[in-house]
Amino acid sequence: MLIIDKKLCIGCGICESSCPFGAITVAAGCAEVNDSCTLCGTCVDNCDPGALKIEGAEASVSLDLAGWTGVWVYAEFRAGALAPVSLELLGIGRRLADSRKVPLSAVLIGAETGDTAQRLIGHGADTVYRIDDPALAYFTDEAYGAIMTALIRAHKPEIVLAGATAIGRSFIPGVATTLGAGLTADCTQLAIREEDGALLQTRPAFGGNIMATIVCPNSRPQMSTVRPKVMQALAFDHERQGTIVEVPAEPAQLSARVRVIESVISEQDNVNIQEADILVAGGRGLDNAKGFTLMRELASSLGGAVAATRAAVDAGWIGYPHQVGQTGKTVAPKLYIACGISGAVQHVAGMQSAETIVAINRDKDASIFDVADFGLVGDLYEIVPKLLQQIEERRKS
Ligand SMILES: Cc1cc2nc3c(=O)[nH]c(=O)nc-3n(C[C@H](O)[C@H](O)[C@H](O)COP(=O)(O)OP(=O)(O)OC[C@H]3O[C@@H](n4cnc5c(N)ncnc54)[C@H](O)[C@@H]3O)c2cc1C
Repeated sequence: MLIIDKKLCIGCGICESSCPFGAITVAAGCAEVNDSCTLCGTCVDNCDPGALKIEGAEASVSLDLAGWTGVWVYAEFRAGALAPVSLELLGIGRRLADSRKVPLSAVLIGAETGDTAQRLIGHGADTVYRIDDPALAYFTDEAYGAIMTALIRAHKPEIVLAGATAIGRSFIPGVATTLGAGLTADCTQLAIREEDGALLQTRPAFGGNIMATIVCPNSRPQMSTVRPKVMQALAFDHERQGTIVEVPAEPAQLSARVRVIESVISEQDNVNIQEADILVAGGRGLDNAKGFTLMRELASSLGGAVAATRAAVDAGWIGYPHQVGQTGKTVAPKLYIACGISGAVQHVAGMQSAETIVAINRDKDASIFDVADFGLVGDLYEIVPKLLQQIEERRKS
């Protein structure tokens, strides 16, 4: 709750003009707060006379921040494989840990994890907390969340990172809520603020039109999810030494209300567009589902995979795993060929890190040309077959 000390308030109005939510008005020489207040603290920071304070904030500040130390990464292990984002998180985690001069740890939860813990050490972890139990073969929010929460409570890391994958997005918010910690989703940059060691968590906001940097100064741990393919993994160093700590799962942690009866990997959508070096992406300009046959032909002639815009996915022409963008996947292939795609910010947010972007669009003013390295203005149904022909001829010669 925002408390206004009427004796100290001078009615200057700075709080009123600085409040992003219009929650403060100055009346009769004194500030008043309304229900729109989100306790963001902007007014408190701007109040020179010190007339404003957030009740409860002092209590959480006095929460022993120094007692929370170390950087943690949730290493996502599923169906016998480690998600590549885990190694990318170790890459950024190593940088953060070094700049805080604290250890970097990974939490590995699953069944039959084999040599994965050793791999995590080779890619930068100092310690791996391994919870390997047959009952953890299938992911459930409750079991994984209970284990992660208990480990964080026991070891008090100052920073916890997880992939913004289906699994990370599913259970990490619950962990943050149980711990009473803040969580910044979908970060694209992470850094340490020199003055106080706080984690600077940067992510796109307002549909990707601005980048917002978020800090959690009063609570621990500072938790972020990070999109795959945004951070760089460190090369594997087989000389690196680390500690593997075996953590037994408690029976109570394994008793989830959700029971996984079967897990089936879809054959049709068995594609990870985030791993492909070449992507051929189709949008609404394809005009129908058959257009993706042409996209698949071009992709297979180049040894790549097929991606899509949300418009194409929403039309039912291709499955969601192919969607690139703000509500799809972030990709960074060597080559991205955008066919019949206008270049909406929400799509561009997911593919602008591609090394080379080729755009095919019949509208010469389409925004996709703003991010493209090569632009072809014309009908994709004329251009793509010609491209295929050229590729075929080059291959023969
Ligand atoms: C909150 C939110 C999240 C979103 N998330 C995503 C996301 O994750 N990913 C995403 O893609 N979108 C997302 N969108 C939707 C996004 O705003 C656009 O609507 C979408 O990207 C448009 O898809 P498109 O380029 O395929 O279609 P359009 O914008 O309709 O563009 C079609 C293009 O094809 C061209 N064209 C037509 N026919 C031909 C032809 N024969 N040959 C060549 N060119 C042709 C046209 O000139 C046009 O430029 C999101 C929107 C919101 C509000």
